[in-house]
Amino acid sequence: MAQSKRLSAGITRTNREMADGRTIRYYDTKHQTRTSHDRRPIEEQPGIGELRLDPLVNEWVAMAAHRQGRVFLPPKELCPLCPTTSELLTEIPESDYEVVVFDNRSPSLRPPDADWALPDVAGPDSDLGTAAGKCEVICFTADHGKSFKDLSPDRVHVLLEAWIDRTEELSLEPFIEHIAPFENRGEEIGVTLAHPHGQIYAYSYLPPRVEKMLATANSYKASTGKILFDQILAREIRDHKRIIARNNDWIAYVPYASRYPFEIHIAPLEPVADLTELTQVARDGFAPIALEIMKRLDGVFGIEMAYIAAWHQAPVRVGRDVLRLHWQITSVRRAPGKLKYLAGSESAMGAFIMDMRPEQSAAQLRKVKL
Ligand SMILES: [Zn+2]
Repeated sequence: MAQSKRLSAGITRTNREMADGRTIRYYDTKHQTRTSHDRRPIEEQPGIGELRLDPLVNEWVAMAAHRQGRVFLPPKELCPLCPTTSELLTEIPESDYEVVVFDNRSPSLRPPDADWALPDVAGPDSDLGTAAGKCEVICFTADHGKSFKDLSPDRVHVLLEAWIDRTEELSLEPFIEHIAPFENRGEEIGVTLAHPHGQIYAYSYLPPRVEKMLATANSYKASTGKILFDQILAREIRDHKRIIARNNDWIAYVPYASRYPFEIHIAPLEPVADLTELTQVARDGFAPIALEIMKRLDGVFGIEMAYIAAWHQAPVRVGRDVLRLHWQITSVRRAPGKLKYLAGSESAMGAFIMDMRPEQSAAQLRKVKL
């Protein structure tokens, strides 16, 4: 049976079960009925991977060896993210869709057994863990040839509501500590499917950058009584020269110490911990600025920029009073035909060297004629 739920802004979500037991969720604006069956033969789901502690830096590394066999850049007629046709049965059984989210077929992280717990972090003797968590795929449109920047404002709104809905639901799982929706675009950064889509990673532990941001925000609060991110935003507004776009509810800027040739942070002006806390007004204001920024990014060199666009949210259970929602877009493209590679200093030492001033890339982004 199809299960439907009403979300805000007139959007409905219909859950359906796929042949192998995974769930697909349709986010619709016209109350479509979603009853098509997944007619593909059942394939065995890959086993759960391992979580190993890198004791040198006290960070978890997820081992997902089963992902080696993934499809790699199939042609459009074999795209598993396009709607199902008479010629091809895909991940989406319906013949058309608006936005869908389904459980990843070869996930890096999977829901664990009920008695699962993260092993103690204790140096080289730390026990092996299971790679607990959840990985989902989110398709932005049924149109294979489009990009995020080509979506209508209404569609971006549906996408935002889908991200909010997934954050809300995944936050209820006892084994999930952090939820990160992101999009990778471009073969340069290892995208394996050209269809416009993103992923939602729900971790059973705090990813290293989140852990570091949390520790930094906590110690800043302890010594100043203030919220670090709010002060950062205030400085960007004061400095003004790295701001790229602004509306009543959101602001987009190149951060003072950006690490990539193009790095843009987009944040709501009324700070919130995560997507679920966005007001209706802020939700309405997101699409215009998101589309403007993506168009500016592609406009800089007149080519499709490879990028990573990731939501930073406060973790599910900790740091919700000190961490703030923001959307971080980074691109390694520094000129047509030139990429920034993470080499010795960045990869081995974790010390970023930027050969371009953030003020310069902000000016380039502002100059783009839309
Ligand atoms: Zn496709």
